Parts: sequence; C-alpha cells; structure tokens
Amino acid sequence: MSSPSGQANGGQLSSRQSRIVGALLGLHAGDCLGATVEFLPRVMIARSYPQGVRDIIGGGHFDWSPGHATDDTDMTRGVLLAYKTLHDARTEGTRDSNSTMTNGEGADLDVARLAGENFLRWVDGEWPDRTPGWLPKDMGGATARGLERYRVSRDPERAGAGQGSAGNGSLMRCLPTALFQPDRHKMIAESIRISKITHDDFRCTTACAVYNSIAAALIDGVSVENAVDHGEAVAIRLERRMDGPVMQAVRRGRQVDVADMAANGAPIDMEGECSGYVLETLTVAVAAVRDARSLEDVLVDVVRIGRDTDTNAAVAGGLLGARDGEDAIPTRWKEKLQFGKEFREVALAMATA
Ligand SMILES: [Mg+2]
Repeated sequence: MSSPSGQANGGQLSSRQSRIVGALLGLHAGDCLGATVEFLPRVMIARSYPQGVRDIIGGGHFDWSPGHATDDTDMTRGVLLAYKTLHDARTEGTRDSNSTMTNGEGADLDVARLAGENFLRWVDGEWPDRTPGWLPKDMGGATARGLERYRVSRDPERAGAGQGSAGNGSLMRCLPTALFQPDRHKMIAESIRISKITHDDFRCTTACAVYNSIAAALIDGVSVENAVDHGEAVAIRLERRMDGPVMQAVRRGRQVDVADMAANGAPIDMEGECSGYVLETLTVAVAAVRDARSLEDVLVDVVRIGRDTDTNAAVAGGLLGARDGEDAIPTRWKEKLQFGKEFREVALAMATA
C-alpha cells in the first residue's frame, strides 16, 4: 500500500522514506485528531460526532488550537531530536558541548539521555509556542513523577514512576527509535531505556520494544502479518514465556476489530475501555494496522472508541503511517500539524535513502 510520496528536497521520496515520514506524521495526525474528544466516553463522542471526528479541529479538554501537538507529539519530538543530535554529531564529527553525555573517548552519545534532556526542556517550557517556566498543560502523572526522578539522577536506570505505573505515556513517544536505529538489538535496548526515563514498569518497556519491532518491520516493507509476528517474537523473548501480558496484548490485537469497537465499545476483557493502560493501547494499535481500510478511516474509528483518544490514535497512527506512507495521510490533516514540516525535514535529513 505504500507509494512514493510528494516533493521534498527537490525530489520524490523513496517508498522507505515515505513510510518513515508517514509514521511520524501519522502519529502527529492521530494525536491532533483525537485531542478534540480526549477523555470522553464513546457514547458522548457518538452524540456530538455521529460520523466520527473527521477533521483536525482542536478544542477538547485542553482547548487546543487545531493541529497543536499534545504530549504525545511533543515527547515524540523529544526522542526524534535526540536521534537528530546523535546523527549530526556522527556526521559532523562533533560532540555535544555538554560533555557529561559522553563516557570518554570513542564512546557514543547516549540517545536516551539526550531524549531525557529534551523531555526536561519540554517540562520547563523551553519549547516552541510555550512560555519558559510554565509546565505543559497535559503532562501525565507517571511522566511527571518519572521525570522528576530523572532530573535528579540524569540516569534512565534511576528514573521512572516505578512498577505498577503502566500507562501508555512511553509507548506514545517511542516511535523514532524504530525509524532511526537500524541495528535491531540496539533498537530494542534503546526502546526499553528511553521508556524507563518515565515508565520503567516491565509492561511499558516491553510494549515499546514490541511496538517498535512491528514499526521497524513495516518500514522495511515487511507485510503487516509478518511485522506483527516480529513483534510477538520480541515479546516472547523479553517476557521469557509464550503467554506473557505483552504477548497476550498483541494476540488480542489480532482478534478485536476497530470498527466493531468504535460502534459497540471495547470488549469486556479490556476493562480500562482504552483509557490509557499501555497494553490496551498496544492492542488497539495492532488491530488498527491489521485493518485493511484506509489510514483515515481506521484512525477516525480509533478515536470513536473514546477515552484516551489522542494517545490511542497517535500510537495507531504511527503504525498505519509506517504501513501506508505519507500519501495516505489526508492533506487537509497534514497542513494543520504544528510540527509536520519539522518532522518531515528532520526525518529526511536522517533517512537519506
Ligand atoms: Mg496527549
């Protein structure tokens, strides 16, 4: 379903570049589409939007302007720019002036710490369209607790909100690792380490590694079913059993249907009703990417499910964009996205082929 995409840097994108850009913009678009009805239950969304939210119109609980990033896109940007810093340092042969980020001669910059520093900039208001000193208006509780620990330790291994905090706040931002770390072993390790900055619960760290394994396979042009198989294999390895909770969440994603959930609600075993539990968000994303309809129709239905609409759609949108490429994202959505142009430029600076 992928196709070469529009003009950029004076030329057409390769299908791989299109999938990489599509993944980032799919996440951003899902976030902004869902922001309008964040926290609302399905029945209230159905009453106000009988056809679903089909355009990026802003508003919602936090009164966003249309296309404004919420925490999902903001923190994804934090990870994306960490990879950009790493990329620039390697290509230019320079080091970040903050030498605490290196471990000595020949050591690489630590992308997780670079991401952590960007998260702190976001918290502190050193961010586009924000006032320095003002907290983000939509920061989640586990993210706040995890980042305060990180602020003290500056160490991803001594941060995070602890076991038992299993929200989707790291899953929502993990995608750039799948796109810009080509070594699969490092990709899994970095997905886990970046999650730990805020969400060190095993379900969260594993979900990030599994999700990114699916995304990376899609970027490589692997079929959806085989990409999900990759994710299951990583879940089995990390959970050291065949039926661990993350494995079960992926398997559940192969059973549930997004359109059915949009019309009738989440199945009874998804007790959180897609309100932010990391494994329910992962299940929805797997179901979404297996849904053969257009990216637009699937994302609209993910939002119709209700509750944590922006994050569910952001996480699903990342996989759908990786599956279908940039052209699958409606132009009327793309032109609204706060960081759309930046994400595209940064991605293409790193994804040169
Ligand atoms: Mg959000």
